[in-house]
Amino acid sequence: ATVIAILNQKGGSGKTTIASNLAHALSLDKHKVLVVDSDPQGSLRDWNEANDAEILPVVGLDRETLPKDLKAVSGGYDFVIIDGAPQIAKMSAAAVKAADLVIIPVQPSPYDIWACADLVDIVTARQEVTDGKPPTYFLISRVIKNTKLSSEIKTALAEYELPVLKAATTQRVAYPTTASEGLTVFKDPNSEAAKEISAIKTEILEVLG
Ligand code: ADP
Ligand code: MG
Repeated sequence: ATVIAILNQKGGSGKTTIASNLAHALSLDKHKVLVVDSDPQGSLRDWNEANDAEILPVVGLDRETLPKDLKAVSGGYDFVIIDGAPQIAKMSAAAVKAADLVIIPVQPSPYDIWACADLVDIVTARQEVTDGKPPTYFLISRVIKNTKLSSEIKTALAEYELPVLKAATTQRVAYPTTASEGLTVFKDPNSEAAKEISAIKTEILEVLG
């Protein structure tokens, strides 16, 4: 399985939202997708239980043995999406180790960008010993509609020397409202939210090659 870890130690950056929606987008393309909740708070497990239909298989793996634990459950899946844990640096390091691709959702605010410094250190330390793996991209999350990313935001991000995905998520009520039902924005496949998640999925498949 191709393992995609959605990481940021800052809560509210959109990890769980992107993990569930991206996973659902991939599964709607007929890929077999497993979602791993590495957050001891269990947000994704709560999300999954909010709907009897259980649109995706979710497993909780919130210990530092994640890379090994994952091998035991990922057989037969095309993709594993790891929803990252807040704060716990050792969990992030474990997820980076397990990942083929790391996505760092970050809100377009300088404070949020600066708060990624520790995670970027974890990623670049790993990349140094593994010939640049895993490839890691920022994903701008919760953009306010009709605003352009300021040059300050671009400059703050550029300091990390990690690439930024072109696709982004916009601040939209469809995300919390569908999540509260244990669903995703694909509840309305023609919505703007579904379109932006599809664009993220397409770009991620491109960078995976
Ligand atoms: P994290 O997992 O990084 O803590 P969440 O995905 O749980 O972040 O998002 C935090 C809160 O913000 C949740 O209530 C979620 O529904 C909401 N949220 C996330 N992304 C968006 C978005 N693009 N538009 C509107 N609300 C969002
Ligand atoms: Mg979360």
